[in-house]
Amino acid sequence: MNEATQLLTPLKAPVPPMFEAALGYQGDARYVAFYWQPAGDEVMYDDGHASGDGDWWAWIEFENHSAVAPHLWLPCPQCGGRGTTNTLENDPCDACDGSGLLPLNLGSSDFEADHWLILDRQERKFYVAPIVTARRFLQEQWPPPPELTPEEEQTFFEAIQKAVEELRHAWRPPGAGELEESVRQSMQTCTEMVAWLDGQVEEGDTRSPSSAREEK
Ligand SMILES: [Zn+2]
Repeated sequence: MNEATQLLTPLKAPVPPMFEAALGYQGDARYVAFYWQPAGDEVMYDDGHASGDGDWWAWIEFENHSAVAPHLWLPCPQCGGRGTTNTLENDPCDACDGSGLLPLNLGSSDFEADHWLILDRQERKFYVAPIVTARRFLQEQWPPPPELTPEEEQTFFEAIQKAVEELRHAWRPPGAGELEESVRQSMQTCTEMVAWLDGQVEEGDTRSPSSAREEK
């Protein structure tokens, strides 16, 4: 898996311990991606097997938090982060205006994402990657499906059908009280995440985009 993460760009944003819980991801994959989708205007998670919409308020708090926002930049592809494409005259690069950085696009109400934010839940690290790379990376974290004989396939298929049928009988719509409780819990986790991020700012982390470039 370690060579695999070489395809991804590490992001230095702090990783809240309750990040995926606040965002509403309940799966057990090691790597899971998050991004904003303009259709429906919601935050999405995708672990390569399961995807769905998460808790949008937690994403908005995260993305705009002063401990996180200064890290949401990428080296400008046109000048390779140097700020100029003309080293002799040192003219500022027109793609990034000479800053060497471009804002990371994880999606917004108006624009489709061109990168996904990937969380390594084991090492507690963030990465970003262009969507195609991210998608392939997330799918590759799962073992390939086993080769089945036609008989095994039939047995498997029948077992799935049976399970679906059982679920259909057992399912009851959640009551208003249950829904309310689930939203309340999710908001509580979000509040804890913001408090944790506030703590990261107080530790004197005031990196700006320009100093993020110097670290490169
Ligand atoms: Zn540039």
